[in-house]
Amino acid sequence: MINDSGKTPAKILTTPAQYLSGVGANRASLLRKLNIETIADVLFFFPRDYQDFSDVRTIDQLEEDKLQTIQGTVEKIDLRPTRKSGSLLKISIWSQEQHIEAIWFNQAFMRARFSVGQRVLVSGKPKLQGSTWQVTHPRIETLTEDEQQAKPSGGILPVYSLTEGIQQWQIRRIVRNALEKYTDLLEDVFPVEYLESHDLIPILDALPQIHFPSDSQTLEKARRRFVYQELFILQLALVVKRSQMHAQQLAPLLEATNKIDARICQLFPFDLTSGQRDAIKEISSDMNSRLPMNRLLQGDVGSGKTVVAVYAMLLAVAHGYQAVMMAPTEVLSRQHSLTLKKLLHGSKVNHLLLTGGLATGPRRKMLERIASGETDIVVGTHALLQKDVQFKKLGLAVIDEQHKFGVRQRAILKQAGIEPHYLVMTATPIPRTVTMTLFGDLEISTLRDSPPGRQKVHTYLSDNSNREKWWEFVRKKLLEGRQAYIVVPMIDESKLEIANLKETYESLANGQLEAFRLGLVHGRMTAEEKDAVMDDFRRGEIQALMCTSVVEVGVDVQNATVMTIEAAERFGLAQLHQLRGRISRGRHPGFCCLFANSKTKESRQRLDSLASTTDGFKLAEIDFKIRGPGELFGTRQHGIPPFRIADLMRDQSTLEESRRDAKSLVAADPGLADDSHRLLRRMMLSRYGKALDLGDVG
Ligand code: ADP
Ligand code: MG
Repeated sequence: MINDSGKTPAKILTTPAQYLSGVGANRASLLRKLNIETIADVLFFFPRDYQDFSDVRTIDQLEEDKLQTIQGTVEKIDLRPTRKSGSLLKISIWSQEQHIEAIWFNQAFMRARFSVGQRVLVSGKPKLQGSTWQVTHPRIETLTEDEQQAKPSGGILPVYSLTEGIQQWQIRRIVRNALEKYTDLLEDVFPVEYLESHDLIPILDALPQIHFPSDSQTLEKARRRFVYQELFILQLALVVKRSQMHAQQLAPLLEATNKIDARICQLFPFDLTSGQRDAIKEISSDMNSRLPMNRLLQGDVGSGKTVVAVYAMLLAVAHGYQAVMMAPTEVLSRQHSLTLKKLLHGSKVNHLLLTGGLATGPRRKMLERIASGETDIVVGTHALLQKDVQFKKLGLAVIDEQHKFGVRQRAILKQAGIEPHYLVMTATPIPRTVTMTLFGDLEISTLRDSPPGRQKVHTYLSDNSNREKWWEFVRKKLLEGRQAYIVVPMIDESKLEIANLKETYESLANGQLEAFRLGLVHGRMTAEEKDAVMDDFRRGEIQALMCTSVVEVGVDVQNATVMTIEAAERFGLAQLHQLRGRISRGRHPGFCCLFANSKTKESRQRLDSLASTTDGFKLAEIDFKIRGPGELFGTRQHGIPPFRIADLMRDQSTLEESRRDAKSLVAADPGLADDSHRLLRRMMLSRYGKALDLGDVG
């Protein structure tokens, strides 16, 4: 037991949960698996769901085939074998002078859950059998002593996440004990006036209600309070972060004067699309400010994002600053470097490519050139994030295919003295809830049009019966001078998988595509090997390229117009769209054939959607619907602690509300220095201080 005398509330709340009544050392170690360490953790261990027993009926009130709940006492338990070597479990429950029977077929193990005299809640759809009500396979809730007292007539019971060795009723009891004893010690993070003006109930009311709600309306209010609090604290952190950057005004002023603009544009061999021009206008205006740009450029595959990024980089260079462009794969960063080489031909601007796997000597030389400021533009992979990569004067960081990077990495690129402008690019549109949540007030530019003369991509779904016809078609296209991809899925590029890949390659090389020059590229090859193959493909030396998803993002070979995707059911929708994007980049129409084996509903849905549209924005929406945003943009992956209660799909309006409120609070009290904001500030720092690098606020 805990001796609380003389301890501050904070001390008591951070006491290990072990000392709660009903816990002890053994159970405490089980609780730890649920991330419960302290008494406060118990109090804030929110239910993951609820069981609503509030529609409790008496037997007289029962209606057939409707979900209802009866409370009663187990009177008789009868388990017997049936003729077909199964079992029948029948429990007779006594409730208000009448019987109801609960029955289970072939679930003899359920027998152990019951004992005569036990109080239970039975939920199900009852049927009249003669004069007796029967429920088949009902949901049963055993009531402990205290639950019977607390809920004499059913009600809403919490459902907690469990771990092996601990049961629902045990957690309920632990939480209930903790609530009774310690709720009063909690201090509300919100001042009373704030609660009132924002339609939030006080913590002392909300906490008991989120665990053991008296009715569904009150539960909703309690939930709103905690969802709001959780989202508000995050928004507060994001707004404070933003205002710190404002206050510091550390970004360089990079104005796109007419002269600079003309000089950059004459490097491009084509006219910019109107979407590109709009995006460039927005970016230039951001970069002409001491407030660091924080902009997302989204545009479908092939919409021409790279050029926009190159413009922004050259703008930084024109002012004597360096720029960096980070891409998620070596193949892609190498391609960016080639693009720059072509565009900058005959210009004084120099650039280098920094990827992993460089020898020590050359790498050190590159680092020196970056640190001395001799290099204007650096292109590379996450190898750029290593500590020893130091810029002299970094003015702009471009991050290509942003969905593969996280916020933490942006912080690492930072250098003393200057805060670079940020431009992140993605071909996977990100829903507004997610951008607001994870990136604060990220500004967004969207490329809706694509460069002129783009041809359509035809997409075919096929099973193996059409293979011969398809290969005939591929051969025809190759003979016309086009090039082809053959994409094969891989999980981990293990030895075995690579061996299989090579086998498939051999059979193609000696079979259907015998007459053509074939190449193979996969993730297990060294950077140089990959580069050599990709170069050969770019130059047309290789006519058909068998590959894994290493070509998934960004690769741009305009003459390649035919794509075969094997075992397409194993790719995600966004991934398939990216892959197909490789063959819609030039003057010739594209042809994509998806061979799929599995016929699960979800994979069907994915493949049908892909075949039905080439609009990446539409596909992204479908993808969110199929998978939900969590999987695509897990907060964890972005370095931000996961939510305890908020749900981005469900709580969108609360998110917007909390964001507005956080903005006005920070506007009124930028350092959160007011005494009434002390707890908000503390909570914000403890939860997000490190993830968002908030330093010492105030
Ligand atoms: P993504 O948006 O997928 O990154 P890229 O930037 O790789 O697309 O551009 C796709 C292709 O379109 C490239 O070959 C690029 O040179 C070409 N391109 C970009 N902008 C234009 C334009 N305004 N006119 C013609 N071609 C363009
Ligand atoms: Mg790209």
